[in-house]
Amino acid sequence: MDQLKQIIRDIPDFPKKGIIFKDITTLLGDAKSFHRMVDLLAHRYIGEKIDQIVGIEARGFILGAALAYKLGTGITLVRKPGKLPSETRSVSYELEYGSDTLEIHADAFKKGDRIIIADDLLATGGTMAAVVELVEEMGVEVFECAFMAELEFLEGRAKLPDGKVYSLLKF
Ligand code: AMP
Repeated sequence: MDQLKQIIRDIPDFPKKGIIFKDITTLLGDAKSFHRMVDLLAHRYIGEKIDQIVGIEARGFILGAALAYKLGTGITLVRKPGKLPSETRSVSYELEYGSDTLEIHADAFKKGDRIIIADDLLATGGTMAAVVELVEEMGVEVFECAFMAELEFLEGRAKLPDGKVYSLLKF
């Protein structure tokens, strides 16, 4: 696990001053690390009845698609406004400055589907909390929120359903 953590690169002051950005592209670009990361996360869910993976734009698509392939499910995309072509449902949530909106296709699920929501990194938890709200209103059961990495000091998991958060690499 330490090897995987070390390959994630810190970029200070990106995208703005005071933020230390965890750059996962170095992990994704390294064959051994990428395979290990996907295998470790997928292993956690093998044997569970999972109907669908939900990936959050954009880096959540990478982990989401890899998990869906490994678990033999489909992947549903949560996207920025105006990107999905059919009828959508949306959720808006507060950011540090202003707010943001995410959309999903209205017919993405069957009632009672058990899903995993995938994203690259858990920071404040605002994005994932909004997606949990969005999909729960559509009548699905969130089995777990899965992340490659988590910034524990931001306590993002406090915003998410108790006991339904897993991150592989904790910083
Ligand atoms: P949050 O809603 O605060 O949990 O973060 C939303 C998204 O912003 C995450 O899925 C990450 O892709 C990205 N993000 C936030 N903070 C960082 C960070 N320090 N390094 C890399 N990505 C980040």
